Parts: sequence; structure tokens; C-alpha cells
Amino acid sequence: MTNSRVYNFAAGPSVLPLSVLERAGSEITNYRGSGMSVMEMSHRSKVFMDIFQETRDKLRRLMNIPEDYRILFLQTGASGQFSMIPLNLIGKTGKADYAVTGNFSGLACKEAKKYGQISLACDTGGRNHSYIPRQEELKLDNEASYFYYCANNTIYGTEWDYVPETGEVPLICDMSSNILSMPVDVSRFGIIYAGAQKNMAPAGLTVVIIKDSLAGHELPFTPLMMNYRTMIDKDSMYNTPPCWCIYMLGLTLDWVAENGGPEGMEKLKWQRAGMLYDVLDASRLFTCHADKGSRSGMNVTFRTGDEELDAKFVKEAAQAGFVNLKGHRLTGGMRASIYNAMPVEGVEKLCDFIRAFDKQN
Ligand SMILES: *Cc1c(COP(=O)(O)O)cnc(C)c1O
Repeated sequence: MTNSRVYNFAAGPSVLPLSVLERAGSEITNYRGSGMSVMEMSHRSKVFMDIFQETRDKLRRLMNIPEDYRILFLQTGASGQFSMIPLNLIGKTGKADYAVTGNFSGLACKEAKKYGQISLACDTGGRNHSYIPRQEELKLDNEASYFYYCANNTIYGTEWDYVPETGEVPLICDMSSNILSMPVDVSRFGIIYAGAQKNMAPAGLTVVIIKDSLAGHELPFTPLMMNYRTMIDKDSMYNTPPCWCIYMLGLTLDWVAENGGPEGMEKLKWQRAGMLYDVLDASRLFTCHADKGSRSGMNVTFRTGDEELDAKFVKEAAQAGFVNLKGHRLTGGMRASIYNAMPVEGVEKLCDFIRAFDKQN
């Protein structure tokens, strides 16, 4: 089984740890003596409730989430949070600040404009989102209901290397593509959320970590299912939660814990990314999309500047067992997504391939 697996550099859904898949496989028809699959269980059964609570406790421990924060397991997709956040939070003052540093923060900003007055704290679109602004460059409004940003720009390959300082204004952060890849001081945030399909579990689960006191300012027309208060009061079980994904998240969290927790993940992250950036910087053919100092440790974007040569690279890489390296249409070129579950060995081998390609072309 191991031999036939490729090195999968997909941006999402993406690679999961092999041991997690094997464990899920071994339990798939009979979960620990229950006589059934986790996929077949009532979400109200004791056996599933145990999985649910243990998974939540594991995340709380791993991320050191303070007591006054709730952990929600929702089905909205990360994109559903683009609406849920303004619907629930903007009612406080009617205003919010958005830092637009890529595609997803741009979409979130556009959605929020339906519900209130939005100020751009920054917009890096003028240079095709190739950098992250510094703190001094952010335009802040101290009457904003919240400040919104995306910690890692999956498409452009940039990552914030600091947490913005916004005073009393709650920080709301999309960590879909870098959650659990470094330690985070959760107490600095109002909400951290992430679609699970990049670093945590299969697609279908959205994890929301919310400071309890932030809920309860929803606009009057907020749909029941988009109301944080509904989900907090019902413990994410107002309706059927994404049971299988929650179970898979639990397995991934065990794997993260066994591999040094967020600190261990951060070391591996920069080990992988460092190797790749070094090889690209030393090459004749390749340039990186992101400025030095803004480069992502999760999504490495690069190109040759020649579309035909890029296509040749992607094709030959796939033949050599390195798949899903084609860049997003907004950046062109290539993108190597190297999330937590990407083995260091996969990146070492990709580096060898890049060196060889650089020589031959
Ligand atoms: C993938 C991604 C999204 C979109 O996630 P969906 O679950 O498909 O809605 C949003 N934000 C970031 C940073 C992402 O990487």
C-alpha cells in the first residue's frame, strides 16, 4: 500500500498522515467493538459522544485553548464563515476592518460588505498579493466591531509571520491552511477558524474556536444555522454534525501530539519549506511568487516565467510521483502545498527533482 502512494502536493483536500489513514482503515467496519463504522453511528450515541468530546478535548489541549473559548465543529466550509462572521459580529458597531492579502480574504471582505461598513486595513492586490504588510502599514479603526485577516494565503503562498496588534478590537482569523502548523496564543484572538481539509481531516468539517463573549450580537435576520449562539448552546449538535470528519480529526490530533504538537509541526514546517526555498533560490530557472519575509511555510508558489516550461515541469513531476503541483490560475506557475502531513522525505525528493530539471532545461 505504501509503495503505491504518491507524494501529493495538493492544496486541499490534501495529504493526510499515512498512519491516520491506516488506523481509520483498520476501524472502518467495526469501531472498537461497537460492531459498526463511525459512519453508521447515531451522533447521539454514547460511543460517538465519546469520540466527539475526546476530539474536542485533544484540540483544547494541543492548542492550549482557554476555558472561556468554545470549540465548534460545523459544516459551513471555511467559505460559510465569510458570512457567519459579519452576521454574528458586525452588529456591535456596524463597522469592521478587513486585511485583504489574497483570494479568500478578498471574498470574505466582499461578503461582509452586505452587512455593514467595511474598511480595508490593507489591500495587497496591487502587487498580486506577493507580500504581507507590516504592522505599521495597517490602517486600523478602533471603532471596528472586529479586525479580519487570513493567516496563510493558500493560493499566493504568503503567510503572516506576526499576529496583528489591534488593541481592544477582536481579531478574527482564517487559519484554514496553517492551523496546527505553529503554536498560537489563542487568547489574542476573538475567533480562529479553519476548514479541515488542509491540515486536519477530510473535507466537510469547519472548526471554529470562539471567545464565548463574542457571540450574541447577531443581526436580527441571521439564519438559525448561521448563529454561533445556536451552535454554542447546542454544543455543535443542533443538527447532525460531520461525524466521520470529527473522528478523523481526532486521529490526526493524536498524530500531531505524537510528533511534538504545534511546536514539532512548526519545526517540520520550516525544515520542509526551507529546503524548497533554498533550492528554488539557487536555481537558474525558477523564481518564487512571494517576497522574502512573506513566504509561506505551507504553500510554496514558484514559476519559470515560461508557461510551456511550467507545464513540462508539472507533467514530468507527476510522472516521477510528485502530483498536484500545478499552480492556481490566479498565480500561474507551480504550487507545492506542504502541509503538516507531507513527509520531509517527499520534499527532499522533490528538491532533487527540481535540481535535475533545472540542469536539464
Ligand atoms: C481552502 C480555503 C478556504 C475555502 O475553504 P472551503 O472549506 O472550501 O470553503 C478559505 N480560506 C482559506 C485560507 C483556504 O485555504
